[in-house]
Amino acid sequence: MNNLLLESEHNQFVESARRFVDAEIIPNATEWDIAESYPRELFDKFAELGWLGIGVPEAYGGCGGSSILYALLCAELARGSAAIALGFYVHTALANSALVHLGSEAQCKRWLPAAVDGSKVGCWAYAEPNAGADVSSVTTKATPDGDGYVLNGTKIYITNSPFADYMIVVAATRPEQGMKGLSVFVVDADTPGITVSKPLQKLGMGASEMAEIVFTDCRVSKENLLGPEQGGFTRALKVLTLGRIASAALGVGLGRAALQEAKHYCSERVQFGVPLVKNQFVRFTLADMATRLEAAWQLTLHTAALADAGQAHDQQASMAKLFATETCTWACERALHLCGAQGYMKVSAVQRFYRDCKVLEIGEGTSEIQRETIARHLGV
Ligand SMILES: Cc1cc2nc3c(=O)[nH]c(=O)nc-3n(C[C@H](O)[C@H](O)[C@H](O)COP(=O)(O)OP(=O)(O)OC[C@H]3O[C@@H](n4cnc5c(N)ncnc54)[C@H](O)[C@@H]3O)c2cc1C
Repeated sequence: MNNLLLESEHNQFVESARRFVDAEIIPNATEWDIAESYPRELFDKFAELGWLGIGVPEAYGGCGGSSILYALLCAELARGSAAIALGFYVHTALANSALVHLGSEAQCKRWLPAAVDGSKVGCWAYAEPNAGADVSSVTTKATPDGDGYVLNGTKIYITNSPFADYMIVVAATRPEQGMKGLSVFVVDADTPGITVSKPLQKLGMGASEMAEIVFTDCRVSKENLLGPEQGGFTRALKVLTLGRIASAALGVGLGRAALQEAKHYCSERVQFGVPLVKNQFVRFTLADMATRLEAAWQLTLHTAALADAGQAHDQQASMAKLFATETCTWACERALHLCGAQGYMKVSAVQRFYRDCKVLEIGEGTSEIQRETIARHLGV
C-alpha cells in the first residue's frame, strides 16, 4: 500500500518480503500450525535475507535499518503466518533489542553476530506463574554470589524457548525494591541449572513454540548482566518500544490476511442468486475492515517514524499496539463470520487467524496495560 511515509526503497523491500512470504510461508502455514512447530532453518533464511540484522548496528553484523522497515516486515510476515512473525519478533525486537540497548560493547560483540547470522536464536523470559500484567510480582531471584549471580525461579509462556540458544531473563537482584530491583541477564541456554519443559499447548499461534523454564541454582557471571544491576528492567521498558510497534504491525498484517480471505470468499460464494459481495451488509463490513486496518497501519507507521526520528513515542507505541491488536481481533471475527461454515473448518486459514489474533491483545502488555500507559501520558 503506498504511503507518504514510505520511500521507494521501502516499497521494493515490501515487494521482496511479499514474494518470500507468498512462496515460503503461506504454502506451509497450515501444516506448521497443525504440527505445532516450524523448521528452525527458517531463521537461516531470515538471516540470508538480512532480516535478523535490522536494528542491529553494522559493527555487530547488523544492517541498521529503521523501525519503519521493521514494521513493514512484521506486517508482511504476519500476513503469511502470525506464529512465524511472533517467533521472529521475539528474537529480534525483544531478545536482540535488549542486547543492542542494554548491552556493553563487549556483550554486543559476544552475542549479536550469531543472533544476526541465524546460528543462534533468542527468547525473552519475563512472565512467571504469578507475574503477568503486574511486573513488580516477578519472584525469580538473581542472588549476588562471588563474581556473579545465582538464578532461581520459574518463567512461563516463553516463546522460542524450546529451541532458543540464549535467553534474556528478567530477575530480581533486590527483591525488596519491587520493579526497581529487577535486572536483566543474557544467559546461554546450555548453562547448568536450566530446565526447559515440553512445548505448551495453546489456542492459537500453533506453529510458535513456547515453554516453561526453571532456573535451579543456575550460576551466571557478572558479564551476563545487561545494563545496570538495579533499574535494568525499568530501563528496558523505556527503550524496548520496538516490541509494541512489532505487535501493532502483526495485528495489521494478520487483519489484512483476514480481510483478503473474506473478500475472496464473498466474491466467489453465490447465495440467493448473487455473489455475497453484492449485499450491502457484506460490502460495508469489508469497507469497515479496510478502513480500520488502514487507520491502525497509519498509527503504526507514524509511531515507527517518531522512533526513527528519535522523538518521544511511548504513548503512540501504546496507542498503536492497543488499536491495531483490538482491530485485528475484530477483523478476524468478522472475517470468520463472513466466511460462514467454510471459514469454521480446520482446513480454512480464517479459523487459524481467528485463533491466532487474540494473543496479540495479551502479550507485550495487555490492552489494559496499554490504556494505563496512555492515561498516564494524559496526566490522569
Ligand atoms: C502465545 C503467548 C506467547 C507469550 N510469549 C511470551 C514471551 O515470549 N515472554 C514472556 O515473558 N511472556 C510471554 N507471554 C506471556 C505474557 O507476557 C503474559 O500473558 C502477559 O504479561 C499478561 O500476563 P497474564 O497472561 O499472566 O495476565 P494476568 O496478569 O493474569 O491478567 C489477566 C487479565 O487481567 C487484566 N488485568 C490485570 N491487572 C489489571 C488491572 N490492574 N486493571 C485492569 N486489568 C487488569 C489483564 O490486562 C488481563 O486482561 C506469552 C503469552 C502467550 C499467550
